[in-house]
Parts: sequence; structure tokens; C-alpha cells
Amino acid sequence: MNPIPFSVLHRTEHLEKIRNSSFDLVIIGGGITGAGIALEASSRGLKTCLIEKNDFASGTSNKSTKLIHGGLRYLKQFEIGLVHESGTERAILNHLAPHLVVPEKMLLPLIEGGSYGKTLTSLGLMVYDFLADVNEDDKRKMLDKNITLKKEPLLDDQFLLGGGYYTEYRTDDARLTIEILKQAAAFGASILNYLEMKSFNYTDSKIENIECIDHNTNEQIIITATNYVSATGPWVDIIRKKDVSLNHKRLHLTKGVHIVFPYEKLPIQQSIYFDVPDGRMVFAIPRGKTTYVGTTDTNYSGSLDRVVTTISDVNYLLLAINGMFPSVKLTVDDIESNWAGLRPLIHEDGKDPSELSRKDEIFVSDSGLISIAGGKLTGYRKMAHRVVETVLKTVSKEKRETIKDSFTDTIALIEPALKSAEDVSNYIMTLEMRLNALGMHDPYYASYLCATFGKQADMIIERTKSIVPGSPEERLIRAELWYAIHHEMTNTLADFFVRRTSRLYFDITSIKKNIDIILEDMAQYLSWDHDRMNTEKDQLQQLIFDATHYYETEF
Ligand code: FAD
Repeated sequence: MNPIPFSVLHRTEHLEKIRNSSFDLVIIGGGITGAGIALEASSRGLKTCLIEKNDFASGTSNKSTKLIHGGLRYLKQFEIGLVHESGTERAILNHLAPHLVVPEKMLLPLIEGGSYGKTLTSLGLMVYDFLADVNEDDKRKMLDKNITLKKEPLLDDQFLLGGGYYTEYRTDDARLTIEILKQAAAFGASILNYLEMKSFNYTDSKIENIECIDHNTNEQIIITATNYVSATGPWVDIIRKKDVSLNHKRLHLTKGVHIVFPYEKLPIQQSIYFDVPDGRMVFAIPRGKTTYVGTTDTNYSGSLDRVVTTISDVNYLLLAINGMFPSVKLTVDDIESNWAGLRPLIHEDGKDPSELSRKDEIFVSDSGLISIAGGKLTGYRKMAHRVVETVLKTVSKEKRETIKDSFTDTIALIEPALKSAEDVSNYIMTLEMRLNALGMHDPYYASYLCATFGKQADMIIERTKSIVPGSPEERLIRAELWYAIHHEMTNTLADFFVRRTSRLYFDITSIKKNIDIILEDMAQYLSWDHDRMNTEKDQLQQLIFDATHYYETEF
């Protein structure tokens, strides 16, 4: 039987199925961790359900630095296993989605009086190349001052000594999450957003089912399974409290902020990873029409549902960036957008935020709740494997025999797949030609479409033909919405502008231009009345406000 289409237009059918099924596994939380588990479990043959209380990737998995790390910084903490795992995972992910996990050359400037000298940097990068199993193209190089300045003329000539040159991989975290969920759905998993787990019911001290609320209708839904996994990131302890299983092992939340400048305000030629006076490292990464800078790392105890950027976060990052590129003289007024997210790390007594391990850990409660905390975007596949292996310990021998070995290292994240960097650049050229024919001559859109939708962009371009009249930009964005509604479970205006297209962070002006036309289209597709339209607009305006303002304190 074909799975129910992954579309909000089929939400009632999804709910019916979820209500009437008994699952092998229910996953609470639709960030990267939950998504990875859903794909691992469903592809191996477990009857899987995933629920998300808000939109997919609306928690931390939309607020990261958006890198598939090789884990260079873990070297400093001697987390050798983590460096190795991160290094090998990024090669696999690049292979599975070469348009979405893309090599990004990173320049490490060596500055007089900086934290790392030439020998230490060279040695560190060499050890890293070895541990992370870095391929020949990506291996580190040490650069002299002149070549470093050629690579990045905005660096301060006066104090520059040279540079280290190595490779990270960039991605888009929300996009990665959504593509993995779409693949899990294709393997038959039932996956729904705006469905919140509220409480557990027990029989003989074991979880019998969970009570959830559908945020679209306020209806209560009971979901039954033999195994329950909480992949709720910063909310893991809240769910453990509901299960009365919170013990001495607990989360330690730290906040990380990124700020985004229009590219012309910070026109770096390439990504830079530089140290700041307090010994931490900060990234500056060009992306499309912008350059983004981050991150901070501070202890956090505010609201989990509204994480904002404070004035002191912004000042920290401005000081860092102006220190490294003194000619740019950036101020708060130059910032176009920002995001703030929470790292769900595991508490270790006496450690500062930046010293806490990024390793993941699994907790299993007496009631059977399996919680996973910590970890990185980069390690999602391995984390998923560890969780599913934990689940499999509890299933019967007969059931275990029906479960396949893990093969997510061979599942392309998008069908039809682009298979190599060459495929990707050829496809971008094709898109450029097709967009030209549509009247769109800015090459930005071809790269944007490819990075966001991969080859699924074909469907979007095809759709523009039936959207007339309108400017080419308008027709394209409306076609994107059509796709996101029909194939990506887009349920709110913010889902589209924030998680499906990343416009809130990387093209905020396009929201102001298109909000009304997109709202009208969504209202048509989803039969919204005026009240719903107003609520949707207000909710998006709130997110735009937070992305463009800085607060005295946390909420
Ligand atoms: P989340 O993404 O937060 O997902 C948890 C989900 O659970 C949320 O969507 C939430 O709504 C849902 N939920 C909660 N309660 C319920 C409930 N009751 N019912 C249903 N759903 C519920 N990693 C990298 O590899 N590379 C990076 O460059 C990188 N940079 C980072 C920078 C920053 C500033 C931060 C904060 C993290 C960074 N990370 C990075 C780490 C990475 O982003 C996180 O480890 C990862 O996103 C966590 O994903 P998650 O799915 O565990 O949590």
C-alpha cells in the first residue's frame, strides 16, 4: 500500500491512521534527532510514528551554525571518538545529498597574540585530518601571510601571521531534517507536526500509551506503541519529569546566537573560523545574499519556547567580528536578522558551557521511556542507530528476526538524487537557464532552489507555468508554496517562511514583499477563515520581530 502523501491536505487521514494503529515505536520530537530515528526505524521495518508539537525543526534543529562538522573543536577536548565519528559521517552525508551537504573551505587566520600559534594549528589540523579520515581534497594546508590575505583581503594586515586552511561541510539544518522525515514517511512512518504529547498512561508501571493534543483542532489523540522514544532536545527533561524518571543525570542548556548581515556589509570571500579574546572560536560564513556570524555559548534558564537574542549577545558578536575585520566597522543597525537556539547538553559539575561534551547519551527509564540527549546535527545517523538498537533489545526474538540491518548510509536523502558535485553544478546551470526563460536573471535563485529543494525544484519550476499573472519572483515563490503544501506538510505561514525556505534568516526582505500573496494562497489551499489568517500573520510578525530585535533579558 502506498503511504499517505506527506501533505497537510491529508492531515485527517494521517490522524486517523495514527489513532487506529498500534506502533512498534513512537518518537516524540521532530528535530534532526527524531527525524534520524524515524528513518532508521522505518527503513529497517519497525512500524514507526513521529509526532512534533510545533513544526518539524522548529527547536534547536533550525538554530545551529548549519555545519556538518568534522569536529575540529572536539580535538581541543581530546574527544577523539567524536572527531572520528564526525569526520566519517560528513563524508557519508555529502554522498547522500551533495546539494545539501557541501564542502566549505574554512580559513583559520593566525594572528599575533592569538590563542593558537602556527605550529600548534598545523599539528592540530594534521591530527584532525588523520582522526577524521579526511580525504585528499579536504586535507589541511598551512598558508603564509600573503596567500592568507589573498584568500581574505578583509583580514587585518597589521597583525596577520598566516593561516590554516581546512574543510568543513555546510548544510541547512531545517531542510536536512525535513528531507529525512520525507524519506522516513516514504518508508511508511506516520509523521505529523502540531501534535503534542501531553502525558503518559501506564499499566503495571510500564507506558501503555500517550495522550496527545492536535493543535489544529484541539482534539485529544491517544497513541499506542510498544516502545516510546523522547527525542525532544531541550525539552528532554520536561518529558522525563512527566514520566517521573528525571534523576541526577540532567540537561545543561546553553544558548547560541547567530547574527546575519547583508553580504555587502560583510563581504568576506570565504568562510572564516577565528578565535576571540575569551579563547572561544566564532564562524563567519557567507551564504547567498548574506554573511552570518556565530555563535555565543552561555548558560540558559529562560523560556524554552521563546529563545531570543539579547543586547549582550549581539555586542559579543559585534566585538568579535570588528576585532577580526577592523575595516568593516559593523554596528547593530547593520544586522538584518538573527536566531538564537539552545544546546541540549548533558550537565557535568564544574564545567563552563564551552567545555561541556557534545556527546549524546541515552537514558532508559523503568517505565520503558528511552530518551536521547546531547549530540550534534552531524551525528544524527549514528545517534539514530544507537537508539534503534536500544529499542531492539526489548522486542521479541521473532520480531527481531524480521528487522533489517541498518542501511541509512545508502538511502539518498532526496529522490531523484543528485549524485556528485558535478551533478550539482550541472543542475544549477540547467536551473539558471530555466529561470532565465521565466524572466529571472539573478543567478542567486538557481543556487537557492538547488540548495533548498534539490532536483525537486523541477516540479516547482514546472508549476510556475500555471501561475499567471505575476512577476517571475512572485510566480516562483507561489510555486514553492504549492510544493511545500503538497509535499512537505506545511501547516502554517511560519512553516513556509522559516523552516521550508529559510527566508526569515537569509532573505527577510522577500517576506515583507510576499507575505500577503502567500497568505492568500495558503488560505485558499487550507480553507482558512479571516480569524485564522490574522492569527497566522500575527505569529509570523512576532517571529520577524524577534529576528530583528535584541532584548535586555531572556523571556
Ligand atoms: P530539537 O531540534 O530541539 O528537536 C526537539 C523537538 O522536540 C522540537 O522540535 C520540539 O518542538 C519537540 N518537542 C518537545 N516537546 C514535545 C512534545 N511534548 N511533543 C511533541 N514534540 C515535542 N550541530 C552540528 O552538527 N553542527 C553545527 O554547526 C551546530 N551548531 C550549533 C549551534 C548552536 C547555536 C546550537 C544551539 C546547536 C548547534 N549544533 C550543531 C547542535 C545541533 O543543532 C543539535 O544537537 C540538534 O539540532 C538537536 O536536535 P534535536 O532533534 O535533539 O532537538
